[in-house]
Parts: sequence; C-alpha cells; structure tokens
Amino acid sequence: MTRDVRRHRLVKEDLIYGPLPSRRLGRSLGVNLLGAGAKRCSFNCRYCQCGWTAQPIRQGTDSLTDLPTGNQVAEALERRLQQLCGEQILVDVITFSGNGEPTLHPELQAIAKAASDLRDLYMPDAKLAILSNSSTVYRPEVRAALQGIDLKLMKLDAGSEGLMRRINLPAKGWDFAEMLQGLAKLDGVLLQAMFVWGRVANTAPVAIREWTDRVAEIRPRGVQIYTLDRVPADTGLIPVSRGVLESIAEYARRRAHVSIEVY
Ligand code: SF4
Repeated sequence: MTRDVRRHRLVKEDLIYGPLPSRRLGRSLGVNLLGAGAKRCSFNCRYCQCGWTAQPIRQGTDSLTDLPTGNQVAEALERRLQQLCGEQILVDVITFSGNGEPTLHPELQAIAKAASDLRDLYMPDAKLAILSNSSTVYRPEVRAALQGIDLKLMKLDAGSEGLMRRINLPAKGWDFAEMLQGLAKLDGVLLQAMFVWGRVANTAPVAIREWTDRVAEIRPRGVQIYTLDRVPADTGLIPVSRGVLESIAEYARRRAHVSIEVY
C-alpha cells in the first residue's frame, strides 16, 4: 500500500507563519527568509511541495533581491511572539523554512542570533530549528550561522552524486563532495532523507547502501526518513510504503550505528 499525498502546495505569503503542527518538530512557528509568493532555492527537488523552482539559485553568482532584511525579520518575529504570549500559545520550535533554502539569506547569522535572543525572552522552552538542503554547508560562514541553531535538519536524499542530481536537480556549481565534507564538519547535524518511487527512485539496494555509507561518514546526531506527504512538483513520483521505510531504517541503523526515525 502507498500513502495518499495531500493535494495543496505550500508557497508562503508571510514572513512569519503558523504555528503549524509538524510531523517531525511538533508545533512550529515558521520563519520564511525567502520572501513572499515564490520559491527561491539552490535545488529543484522533484518532490518539492512548493512546485518547481523557476531558476535554481547558484551560489555566489546569482543575486537574491527583495529578501526581507534582518531587522524586518526580527521585528516581525518579535511582534508574533508577543501576540502568541498574549494569547498564551506556546510553540515547540521556531523554524527557518518557508519558500526555499534559508541558508541563501546573506544575514542568516545575525538573524539566527536575533531569533535566539527573542526565543530566550518570550518562549524560552522553544528550540530554534532550520530545514536546509545542505547545498551551502561547505561555506564556513554558513556553518558558523548554523551553530547558533538547536536543530540543524540537513537534507541528504542519496549517497551518490548521480542519484542526488536526478532527485534534487541542483543549480550549476553544486559540488557533492564539498557538501559531504561540510556536513561532516557541522556539529550536531540531523540528517533528513526523502525516499520516493516512480519516475526516479532512491530505494534500490545499491542506493540504500551508498546512502547509508555517506550517513556513517557524516556521523549525524540522528536521521529522519520519510516519504511524500503532499503533492510533488513531479507528479510522476509516488510515496514509498511504510514497510520499505522501516526496512531502510533497520538496515541503516545496523550498518551506520546511528539513530534513525521513520515519519
Ligand atoms: S530544497 Fe526544499 S525548497 Fe528547495 S527544491 Fe528541494 S524541497 Fe523544495
């Protein structure tokens, strides 16, 4: 049996959104650093719930305009946290996510620091989290910004460059080996992997062995694996069965000696 996927796509219109229930994080207040209405990302994942990326952002060569400034993010987050406190609503996490890849924002480090200070002031039990596609983690300044974030959820959907290219369709200039080295240098990383069937699949035995070997090399604090939950950009993909996800987790736990959760 395959699981149904929910039909709506999720391009955000707001800088701060939610709180929304998250399968993996609990009650999450989202911070969308990429601006309203369109996705800006260095990947073009076939399974993206925001649809296709109009033009994948290439590191260091493409300029990102119209992003919210660090001050705008901090002010909007403070207003929303004050509002939630007034309504006595708590959140489990404040999550940098939204319309694309949050580490593309040039002020990420200052924004993460401001969010940490606001969290301490208004919601001290909440964690800071980020959902990243790992494409920028080779850069020391990105790793420095990520160190200030409690839950660093970093994407690794395949253990070979070729399969990652087929699933994630990265922008020109993306370097698989550099990305792996950056992930291995990042303290406390939590890996996330999406497994899919259909037009492209990443569950063949050789693919799982390669993915598990890369996980073992990175030595993450934990791994989360899951499958499609919402309609993907490429409608030729279908969800993987729960049984296959459980088998992948069981194999990788034994081979990589790492904690793996199935969602
Ligand atoms: S990295 Fe995330 S936002 Fe970017 S294309 Fe992939 S799923 Fe979509």
